[in-house]
Amino acid sequence: MAAKSSSAKNNRQFIGGYDYQFISPFDQHCSICMLVPREPVKTSCCGKSFCSQCLNTLKEHHSRPTCPNCRSQKITQSSFDKEMDKRIKELVVYCSHKRGGCEWRGKVRDVDGHMSACKHQLVECPNGCTEIVYPHTLDGHMKDTCPHREAICQYCSLRDRHNIITGSRHIDECPEIPVPCHNKECQEIVIRREMSAHVEECPKEMVPCTYAKAGCSETVKREDLESHNKDRLKLHLDIAMKQIEEFGRSNETLSTKVNSHKIMKLDEYTKHKEEKTVWYSPAFYSSPGGYKMCLSVFCNGNGGAANHYISCFVHLLSGDYDDTLEWPFKGEVSLELLNQMEDKCHEKELLRFSEGTPVQYRQRVRGKEIGRGGGLQEFIPHSELGLKPTQDCQYLKDDSLYFRVSVKVTSKTRPWLVM
Ligand SMILES: [Zn+2]
Ligand SMILES: [Zn+2]
Ligand SMILES: [Zn+2]
Ligand SMILES: [Zn+2]
Ligand SMILES: [Zn+2]
Ligand SMILES: [Zn+2]
Ligand SMILES: [Zn+2]
Repeated sequence: MAAKSSSAKNNRQFIGGYDYQFISPFDQHCSICMLVPREPVKTSCCGKSFCSQCLNTLKEHHSRPTCPNCRSQKITQSSFDKEMDKRIKELVVYCSHKRGGCEWRGKVRDVDGHMSACKHQLVECPNGCTEIVYPHTLDGHMKDTCPHREAICQYCSLRDRHNIITGSRHIDECPEIPVPCHNKECQEIVIRREMSAHVEECPKEMVPCTYAKAGCSETVKREDLESHNKDRLKLHLDIAMKQIEEFGRSNETLSTKVNSHKIMKLDEYTKHKEEKTVWYSPAFYSSPGGYKMCLSVFCNGNGGAANHYISCFVHLLSGDYDDTLEWPFKGEVSLELLNQMEDKCHEKELLRFSEGTPVQYRQRVRGKEIGRGGGLQEFIPHSELGLKPTQDCQYLKDDSLYFRVSVKVTSKTRPWLVM
């Protein structure tokens, strides 16, 4: 029922005879195009009639044309067959859109008049897919087969044209589509969006030895890491021992800083609050050789806490020692907003990153990414920030806030591997 519009155009270049479905009998077909002759011309050789266009084409293509009927070369002398033309115009035919549901039948002479009014002509799909279809099939086409019909991705619910949703580009990019782990032995099917988290834990992923930085150059499947560490215990210990000795010599001062507090100052509180901007603290390490982190502070509050609270979150960043650390991160972050009047009454919250904390808050991040922040939307209400003279307490002073962070890491760090 459907045809490409380009081929319909090509058909019009050469017309030849009438290609209607005839109801009236007729047996003097043009022996060039085998159809009922259009504008018939009679040859002087055998008196046979051809379509004028068929005969002209024959003459154009042959320097010495012969009559397709009697082989004579006198075919060049021909004249319009008025009598036959009149007879043909009276023959009864079906409308050429009979297949499209048109029930019209009439004389050849009336066909052109009918065609300009026929309701069953092919129409172009209004969705712009370039298909031309019969009107009675248009609804079905637009609903079921049109490549431009609206479709919804069953995985990510994206709405777009059917050919885009089912096209290789979306299938290669859809964040919600389940895909097999790239480690063939793994056989896990994972939602694409969660693949990087899976790879971080995939037992079949090849990973460098835990002591790579110490000099063990082997890579093993993650699931074999433990037995590798056991098998090479002596070697690893030797390497580690050497590192400890060197570390002790060159970093005596550094080791005293383990678990010390970091103080961070947020300036222009009012501007951040009014413009609803997020303030990110400078990056810091949980301890030397530890996890790299930063704070984000929403002075005007985040989400449901907007306009009433300060929201505060701790984020993991990609750090220099990530290869030697245990992932996902486990530990406690103590987050304090400092009283600027006296060393007391600091607003303190303890953030626990434990086995029960969803892994996306604790997993390793790569490159310039910032990890999903863990923290509190309702860290402190705006009403608590100003001076409370009876308590000698004031958190917001000179448009600045001071934060103090300390991190107690319970997952493994390897400070002796710090270079
Ligand atoms: Zn002839
Ligand atoms: Zn013909
Ligand atoms: Zn019709
Ligand atoms: Zn269409
Ligand atoms: Zn999708
Ligand atoms: Zn896997
Ligand atoms: Zn090793």
